[in-house]
Amino acid sequence: MNTFELNILASDKPFFKGPCESLIVPSLDGKYGILPHHSNMIIAVVPGKLVYVPLGQPKQEVAVSHGLAKVENNEVLVLVDSVERVEDIDAQRAIQAIKAAREALMQKRSIREYRIAQDQLDRAMNRLRLKGKTDFLKDRDKE
Ligand code: ATP
Repeated sequence: MNTFELNILASDKPFFKGPCESLIVPSLDGKYGILPHHSNMIIAVVPGKLVYVPLGQPKQEVAVSHGLAKVENNEVLVLVDSVERVEDIDAQRAIQAIKAAREALMQKRSIREYRIAQDQLDRAMNRLRLKGKTDFLKDRDKE
């Protein structure tokens, strides 16, 4: 059968395991497509939309944060800090996270704290984008 085995693991939960027809991973170089019998490789995953098609099922779209994807012998392992289905994303929580991260970025803190805030901002903005709440992202100066 023309499938590969996909295993999506978040740091706090196993998320999905099963045969899949295709996968699109958000990477540093943009969207990276994976089909059955892809050559072995490892890529860095960045916050974005991960899309996969389980065998015989509709396309699934989920928000992922940083991590990596490993393809080995027709098995794909996606290891990420967090993953959420669109319906599980709490838009208000993401908006609060964006505000907190922007506040932290404006304060002159250490480079380490700056990066932590930048990562929090990236994750929260990605969640909001997937939720389709782009108005908040566009209207930031009107607040
Ligand atoms: P927060 O600002 O809320 O602390 P965070 O980005 O720091 O968010 P993570 O460490 O990325 O939090 O994720 C912690 C857990 O909370 C994960 O299980 C993640 O899926 C979940 N999570 C984080 N933000 C949201 C959200 N807006 N809606 C739904 N689940 C969320």
